[in-house]
Amino acid sequence: MISHDLGVVEHMSDRVAVMYLGRIVENGDWREIFERPAHPYTQALIAAIPDPLRHAPLATTGGDLPNPLNPPNGCAFSPRCRYAVDVWRREPGPSLETRVDAHAVRCWRSEEIAGRMALAST
Ligand code: SF4
Repeated sequence: MISHDLGVVEHMSDRVAVMYLGRIVENGDWREIFERPAHPYTQALIAAIPDPLRHAPLATTGGDLPNPLNPPNGCAFSPRCRYAVDVWRREPGPSLETRVDAHAVRCWRSEEIAGRMALAST
């Protein structure tokens, strides 16, 4: 199943692969990914799940979607990422590696980002 709505994916899937610009950025068991998302794009998608009881504007990823035929140098998500560091826009992008628990993430700061999410939710 392919969807932009992680609220639906959560109820339909055992494993989840999150894609950005045609590449998987996070992949693993759905519970791990929803409880401890470690890529900023996954965090943004989860924050954008509609909640009829929350009377607040939906969160957005921000920034402009790059041209998939001419992706940015370095990490493809860096122009929209609040954790980006300038040097990473010149380096080759991160690879998809098992970094957090048992799920794979394409992000150099994934462990730090997953930790921040866990701290923010306590
Ligand atoms: S590698 Fe850097 S720019 Fe890319 S998603 Fe991770 S923190 Fe953001």
